[in-house]
Amino acid sequence: MGKKKTDRETAYIAAEHQANLMRLAAAWAAELRGDMEITESDLIGNLAALLEDYRIGDYSAEAKKQYLKMNAEILKIRAKSFAEAANYMARQCEHLAQNEAKWAAAIAKKNGATGLKKTIRVNTIVKYATVEDGQTISESIDAAAQEDAKRISEICREGVRKSKSLDAIVKEIRGTKELDYSDGVLEATRSEAETIARTGCMGIADEAKMQFYLENADVIRGIEHVATLSGNTCLVCGSLDGHIWKNPGELGQVPNLPIHPNCRCVHLPVTDMHEINSSKRPAEAENYWKEAERAYNEDHPGKKFDDLARSTKLKYYYKAQKDYTARTGKPAFDEVPQNMSFSEWLKTKDSRYIESYLGKTRYLLYTKGELPLNRFINPATNTQFTINELKQLDIEAFKRAGLV
Ligand SMILES: [Zn+2]
Ligand SMILES: [Zn+2]
Repeated sequence: MGKKKTDRETAYIAAEHQANLMRLAAAWAAELRGDMEITESDLIGNLAALLEDYRIGDYSAEAKKQYLKMNAEILKIRAKSFAEAANYMARQCEHLAQNEAKWAAAIAKKNGATGLKKTIRVNTIVKYATVEDGQTISESIDAAAQEDAKRISEICREGVRKSKSLDAIVKEIRGTKELDYSDGVLEATRSEAETIARTGCMGIADEAKMQFYLENADVIRGIEHVATLSGNTCLVCGSLDGHIWKNPGELGQVPNLPIHPNCRCVHLPVTDMHEINSSKRPAEAENYWKEAERAYNEDHPGKKFDDLARSTKLKYYYKAQKDYTARTGKPAFDEVPQNMSFSEWLKTKDSRYIESYLGKTRYLLYTKGELPLNRFINPATNTQFTINELKQLDIEAFKRAGLV
């Protein structure tokens, strides 16, 4: 018997919500990829004419002038794609921000907050939230349009300088049919559009929730960072897991989500410490992504799991969970206390699991070198230190681990 929805614990509701957001982000990514494609045949059809006007392949002022003109023409031809993308994102983000603010209200209420104010300025969030590299969504889309035109223009310039045929230039821009046009420079724009969609989706979702929490700062005690207890969670997110920024004073330090593309972290309002101490959260029992990869490699020697489409990877991932349950008779996810952090949870796993998560060198530094997980992270940049950087920082740990 499943529990009623209202009885379910916050961590489970949050995990499900993040999974739904990831699905939504994937749908947006597909939409924006499609937007990029709508002007591709126009561009290819106009290339001959563009190159007709741009014939001086030297370094003269006249060549520069013609180059800039060509670049402007390309921007014009591609404008429809980026305008569609911008419209789509603006519309969707507005709905999403409203939805996320409501969700944040429901979670805060569930955690015992009373007297919540519900107004957040959705328009402001969509317009001004900086979701990727300090840029708003429309700034990211503008930048992508400039980069796209630049990449195409540069191929044309190279082509003219080296007297390449029109066919050869088209091939570099569009790619080849055999590879489903994934080898052309246009693919860079399509995948950039996907990143903008995914990051925008997760970023706006986080920003709307944060704005709601800030609006209601008088009734919350802090913001908790919740990562996923899984071997697929990176060290940066894992190290932040369970961290609470206290109110007042620390809410300004909460990092923007997503930490990186495909980050599944969520910020939850802390209203009552008792709730955190007494409830449960899900944790994967086995490293299902690693298991999925292993099973795939067994069936397909010589092929790479990483090259698969995400939907295919997910099939193997879910199959690994089923196989685990069939093999052990246990559920695929353990229930652990809500106040158990990622690093505490990792300690409960066996050495094989931990080594598969950290990799050999970090595993030795973690066990024999006695380096805690958060030492693997550069707090200034919120990224993993490389092994070499770690060595410079902590030669003693390397000695203890027998690595020098
Ligand atoms: Zn991460
Ligand atoms: Zn994350």
